[in-house]
Amino acid sequence: MLTYQCLSLDLTSKQAILKQVPESPLFTVAFTQSETGSLKVLTNPVALPLKFPRAEGGADLPAVLTLELSYGQVSHITSGYSLMTQLYEQTCLNRRCLNYKEPLPDERRCPLCIKPTRKALLIKTLSEESFEQPYRTQFSAPIVKVAIDSTAQDYLQTFAREARTSLSRSGQPIPPGYQQLWEYPSSLIAIHSFGHQILRSLQLFARVDPREVNFSVVKEPGGSNHYAGYFYDTSDGGNGASEAVFKHRAELSSTAAAIARGCDCDAGCAKCLIQHGCPDGNTALLKQLGLVLLDALAEPLVEKNALPTAQTETEISS
Ligand SMILES: [Zn+2]
Ligand SMILES: [Zn+2]
Ligand SMILES: [Zn+2]
Repeated sequence: MLTYQCLSLDLTSKQAILKQVPESPLFTVAFTQSETGSLKVLTNPVALPLKFPRAEGGADLPAVLTLELSYGQVSHITSGYSLMTQLYEQTCLNRRCLNYKEPLPDERRCPLCIKPTRKALLIKTLSEESFEQPYRTQFSAPIVKVAIDSTAQDYLQTFAREARTSLSRSGQPIPPGYQQLWEYPSSLIAIHSFGHQILRSLQLFARVDPREVNFSVVKEPGGSNHYAGYFYDTSDGGNGASEAVFKHRAELSSTAAAIARGCDCDAGCAKCLIQHGCPDGNTALLKQLGLVLLDALAEPLVEKNALPTAQTETEISS
């Protein structure tokens, strides 16, 4: 992997001057905000029933995922960046401790919680820069909005809570990837992962070039767990990719579930979940939470009589 530092950017001549830098622990993360808004609705929204596995003896939960195709505007606003560094250092890995992931060089035990320290990869912010004038790119293209109702949000919340409980109960350190469950709301992780998994299926099933389409998640007004996802074409005027998502939604969901399940990784990897160019920096992703939505959409309903708890545990330990 090569690293470049940007020395200058001239918007009038559309030129950026980059310098290759030798291997370094330094890197930057841009503060970018995406805004996606509908200008004109192209079709009636489609409400797809989500068939979650029901608890034994419980009633079916009539949850719904809505897809809406419209012509809209996509903006990316970059207002600055953080300069970060990564270091491999002794630290406290007790999540309830104030020293969690703080560097503790030369300490064999955490001075606060007395637990033994361990070596781990730590990320530190060195500085933050804000641009005088944010950089803004904007274009109009077809977009597909994905939203879930409050029954689905509640189901995901319970699923995530049970997964956290079963992961903590093992007494082992939380495996990489699953930490997302503590750091982000369950609806955000589920919709984001679902979007990435559909994109992966679109690339294979509908042979859409990954650069032609992207997905971003936006906080919606309402409770803390309200999020919506947007598939959007990445070129002004559109290229048909989002319309393909809308048109082939049934096949895409079942193919996406098969790809995710067929991948031999645990919590999601570059083959099944990570997307190059994700505007959200590939954070808040977890294979299992995306699969909850994909499986609930898949037709016909396969064997799903297991308790959600039991399923959570087998999926996570496998
Ligand atoms: Zn500690
Ligand atoms: Zn994978
Ligand atoms: Zn993403």
